[in-house]
Formats: sequence, C-alpha cells, structure tokens
Amino acid sequence: MDYDLLITDATILPLANDGLERIDRGYLAIKGERIAALGPMRELPAAGKALITIDGSDSIVMPGLINTHCHAAMTLFRGLADDLPLMEWLNNHIFPAEARFVNAEMVYWCTRLAAAEMLRSGTTCVADGYFHEDAAASAFCETGIRAVAAQGVVDFPAPGVPDPAGNIAAVEQFLDTWQGREPLLTPAIFCHAPYTCSPETLQRGKELARQRGVPFFIHLAETEFEVQESLKKHGVTPTRHLYRLGVLDPNTVAVHCVWLNADDQRLLAETGTRVASCPGSNMKLAAGIAPLAELRRNGVVIGLGTDGCASNNNLDLFEEMDLAGKLQKVKHLDPTLLPARAVLGMATVGGAEALGLGEQIGSLVPGKKADCILLDRKQANLLPLYGAELLTSAATGGDVRTVIVNGRVVMRDRRMMLFDETETMAHVRELAKKVTAPT
Ligand SMILES: [Zn+2]
Repeated sequence: MDYDLLITDATILPLANDGLERIDRGYLAIKGERIAALGPMRELPAAGKALITIDGSDSIVMPGLINTHCHAAMTLFRGLADDLPLMEWLNNHIFPAEARFVNAEMVYWCTRLAAAEMLRSGTTCVADGYFHEDAAASAFCETGIRAVAAQGVVDFPAPGVPDPAGNIAAVEQFLDTWQGREPLLTPAIFCHAPYTCSPETLQRGKELARQRGVPFFIHLAETEFEVQESLKKHGVTPTRHLYRLGVLDPNTVAVHCVWLNADDQRLLAETGTRVASCPGSNMKLAAGIAPLAELRRNGVVIGLGTDGCASNNNLDLFEEMDLAGKLQKVKHLDPTLLPARAVLGMATVGGAEALGLGEQIGSLVPGKKADCILLDRKQANLLPLYGAELLTSAATGGDVRTVIVNGRVVMRDRRMMLFDETETMAHVRELAKKVTAPT
C-alpha cells in the first residue's frame, strides 16, 4: 500500500506559508502519522492505493484547530455562576466549587467530555492547565486528541495538592510520569497567575520548566483590577513583574494579556513570549478586549483559546475566531487591522508555534503530523465558498464531520472512534447532580 489514509476529491485549504491557496478537487495522502502528499486529483499517482479511502467530495479539508488555553475538566461548571465579575466569580463560586468537587475521578470524566466537545468542533490539539492533571492526561490520551497537559500551581491548598509547599514537587512528579510516555501528550507546568503564585514559586516553576524543556503557562493581565493590585503590591505591572522575575521567554505562554500598556507589549515582543488570547472568556467575564492588532504588529506569536468551559460556556474554537476578529474591528472601529486570514493563522499555525509545535502541526504540509478536519460542504452556511476567510465567521464547530489526529481517524461522520461518548456523558451527568444537590 502506498498510503495508510487517502482523502479524495476534496476542497483542501492547507493554510501553509501564510497563503490562502486552495486546492479544488484535491487529495491528501497520509502515511503513518504524517502527511505524505497533497495536491490536485490529477496529480495523484494512478497506482496510489490506501488502506482507508475517504471520499471528500462534499468536504473542506483544513488543519485541525489548536486551542492554546483550556481547563478541560471545568466542563462540570459550565454555566454554573454566570453574569458575575471575574474576582467574585472566581473567589465566591469557582474556587469553592473546585475545593468541593474536583478530584481525580471528576477531572478524568469531565476532561473526556471536554475532549469530545473539542474534537466535535474541530480542535485536534489543546493546551490544558488544571489540577489532578494526571487524570486529565489519561483522559486526553484515550480520546485521541493531541494535548499539552500542564499541572496547576497555586500558593494555597488546591485539589490534589493540599499543602502548597509541595506544589512544584507535584509538577516534578507529573513530568516524571508523562515526559516521553505518550506521543500525543506533552506535559507542562501551569502557574495560575502572578496574584496566586509568589515570586519564589514563579521562579522555581520557571526554573523547572527550563530544566525539563517543557512549556510554562500563566494567566497574565486579565483584568484591570489585577494591574492595579500589582502596581500597589509590586510597584510594576504584572507583565513587568514577570519580566523582572525572568519568567518571560519563548517557552512561556501568557494567557489573556488584555491589560497591557505599550511597555508591556514591548516586553512580550522582546522576550519572544507567546500569547494565548481567549476572547469569549474575556467577554463573558467582562475582562476587556486584548490588544491583538497591536501585539501582532509587534510580531508577537498569538494563539487562540477557549479558556475553561465555565468562563465561556463552550469549547468551540470556530466561535473564538469569529469573536477575535470582530472584537478588534469594534475596538478600533477599523475592519482592516485583524483580517480573517490572520485570525485563521492564530487558530492554526500561530497556535502551533505558541505551544512549541510549529514544526509538527498547524498546516497541511508534507512531512508534518497529519492533524486535519473535514467540514461538511453541504451545510447551508458554507455556501458559497469564495475563500478560506469564510471559515472564521461562517463556519461553526457543528460543521465538522470527520477528524484525523496524528494520522488516525478519531471521529468519522460525527461518531467518536476511540471512546464511548455516551458513557462519558452519563458519568458527567451524575457528577453534576452533586453540584446542584443542596448542601
Ligand atoms: Zn484560564
């Protein structure tokens, strides 16, 4: 056999080289875990045979989307405490709910539910940060999604880490367990925020990330309140605070970055720090609008994220693309500053680069890992298709029909291939009953 998997007669959007070239009536051939070849059908070798052939004549094939920030297990808290300011939402509702309900079993099942939702809506790679991340990592591996899974760190008792003095040791143990173990799983560290981690914790966490060569994630400058508190406590903005601590570099993913002054933006650009922007979350919690157009002008690598389900309330990255683009237009009263092609890049190649996976995924290029999705071209909202730009504002997660990760079909015609979604939903339903039960 020449190929393991062959998609034929499809409209293919490789999203490579910044271009929006498209191949009408094209093929995509996969060998093992990698893309072997793609091009117009007339160039497919006559003898080109494959173990599995998918007729793509009603499909748009594009790279799988990359969610650069999520707390997958928080699907349990979807819609739990809506319409509240971030600090009240976090301190009076989410942290107490986490203290009561987050355990390894909860993280396992709720992460599986999140993975199902993400795969269904075209996300093939997710960066997650939570507690009991061992259970999350196991869940991700079973569903077939690619994941960067980061063990959470805060300086107060947390689920699975009752004594904060052991928070960095817990990450070390997590890295020992998962580094080099599963091809689709990259372990990492997630220090929650500059206001929940001491300078010493941040430095120790970053040092560990450097020693082990893993990504370091942190929420940064999410609200105006956070900036004011940092100015009071440290005399500098949260971004400069992290810069002083030596935390900013190309292996750090700073999440949110809504409240950045010009100096903060320069620091992120100079240090090569990556940004994960979560427009849906920033809107729901009324945090503000991230300066994506400015960061992009400064050459900062930007990926998009959904954030945890509780602050969104969904994990559909197509929606994040739509929000990211339109928010910049409203903010600047200028429709040109963040065009659709740039937004598409953020959800694909930009996300890959943000997570240190730029060489491996993010576009459909021979030699890259075969992470791609097939959208149903028969959907009314996808007609006509003049260009790939349409995908940022007309497509939704519901248009995704088939998902391939690392050369393996993980969803075929909207059916999960590797795990029982019904069983997963039944477990989460039971867990949710405990959340709503009277105390
Ligand atoms: Zn978050």
